[in-house]
Amino acid sequence: MGFTLAIIGRPNVGKSTLFNRLVGRKIAIVDDTPGVTRDRRVHDAKLYDLQFEVVDTAGLEIAPNESLAGRMRAQTDIAIEEADVILFMIDARVGLTPDDRTFADIVRRAGKPLVLVANKTEGRAAEAGAMEAWELGLGQPIEISAEHGLGMADLRDAVVEAIGKERAFEEDEADALVAELGEVLIGEDITDPDAEPAYDETKPMRIAIVGRPNAGKSTLINQMIGEERLLTGPEAGITRDSISVEWEWKGRELKLFDTAGMRRKARVQEKLEKLSVADGLRAIRFAEVVVVVFDATIPFEKQDLQIADLIIREGRALVLAFNKWDLIEDKQAYLIELHEKTTRLLPQVRGLLAIPVSAETGRGIDRLMDGIVKTHEVWNRRISTGRLNRWLEGVVGHHPPPAVAGRRLKIKYITQVKARPPGFVLSCTRPEAVPQSYVRYLVNGLREAFDMPGVPIRMMLRASE
Ligand code: GDP
Ligand code: GDP
Repeated sequence: MGFTLAIIGRPNVGKSTLFNRLVGRKIAIVDDTPGVTRDRRVHDAKLYDLQFEVVDTAGLEIAPNESLAGRMRAQTDIAIEEADVILFMIDARVGLTPDDRTFADIVRRAGKPLVLVANKTEGRAAEAGAMEAWELGLGQPIEISAEHGLGMADLRDAVVEAIGKERAFEEDEADALVAELGEVLIGEDITDPDAEPAYDETKPMRIAIVGRPNAGKSTLINQMIGEERLLTGPEAGITRDSISVEWEWKGRELKLFDTAGMRRKARVQEKLEKLSVADGLRAIRFAEVVVVVFDATIPFEKQDLQIADLIIREGRALVLAFNKWDLIEDKQAYLIELHEKTTRLLPQVRGLLAIPVSAETGRGIDRLMDGIVKTHEVWNRRISTGRLNRWLEGVVGHHPPPAVAGRRLKIKYITQVKARPPGFVLSCTRPEAVPQSYVRYLVNGLREAFDMPGVPIRMMLRASE
């Protein structure tokens, strides 16, 4: 979970109602017994594409002998202490009360990123109160209805703005775990496609080259860049021991992330191979397209496959380069064999580009570069909802989902909710009952119909009536 959010406000403004909505719980778990310690005071929460933790102030049962005001104050202080961002809530139906102003002072003094929220704004009765909220001097009040789920997209945007994009979408172990659980995230909420940064052709495309020691990465990088094409030399990079290089190819700006540490450690071999994987992982996270360099004379070692699998799980575009092709005797037969093996060993991503190259002679480098650009384009692709649903009608008609426990599953519609990599939400009845094999059928169908080879495709299933 990236960040922690605390909902602050006087009693009755609707904090628990919003809390429950964010953590996805139907009823508040209320425990009035004094002295009951609850081991978990922060809960996983979700708001569209934001994943975070929300502090459960109701669970802060400290200083039970204090007055209500004292307890409230203490709870608020602790919650604020733990939070990266404060959501300060008022009740727009009631308007500002002296208590609201007291709480406003407390949160203002905390000096943390803050979102002011006017709750209960469904209907006209709230208009005056929402206006009044401006008086607090805490910026624009975001109008929501916690009970009816209104204004949640505005709330999402406001939270992102308050803490900044970087922090809001910080990745961590939990995300990696989710990725590991597979392509299908049941019940995942849809994300806001407009929140996605648009594909910008003028920005340098970020590439990483990874592979086992001695596969030929350094040689390949030198070939790809070529001294004459070098725009900027090695610069202090994103991480302590990484360098990046920018250059141009066919008018397209490229930025290569190369972890110097990876190469240095690679020389030490065996013992440090685990470390070099960690460095590679860092490069992978920065990149949009990752090229895995195989030594074609000894391809598909376990570690090669692990790296490729990791790149796919991280949602990056992947291109395979089979290097040292000059050493291969029966090139034609071997190429067929490699394609067959690629399809079998990396079935998650059909149509992966596997390109033979010789870093030493420079053969195949242009095709590799073309492949990188093409895969990057597919990875960025967006398909209109209209086209998607015309396609869906066809495939579902042709091969309907199976009946489960005597009841037919209904697939309602599909939308693309994100790109980089392409992600789709499929609305259907009983998502938990849709067999994985049917999801795979749809993913493969999508790939073919919309020409999306070689990139991970995320398919999320969402319940609809
Ligand atoms: P807390 O004390 O701040 O945690 O407030 P609660 O979440 O317990 O809500 C207080 C009351 O306001 C409850 O009766 C809720 O049903 C009601 N409430 C919460 N959100 C809304 C809303 O968006 N609109 C309306 N009309 N009532 C709400
Ligand atoms: P890295 O550890 O992955 O960066 O690999 P290097 O670029 O240092 O290359 C390892 C060895 O493979 C060196 O001896 C290179 O000369 C050799 N090598 C790299 N590319 C090729 C190639 O295309 N053909 C042949 N025959 N040897 C290559």
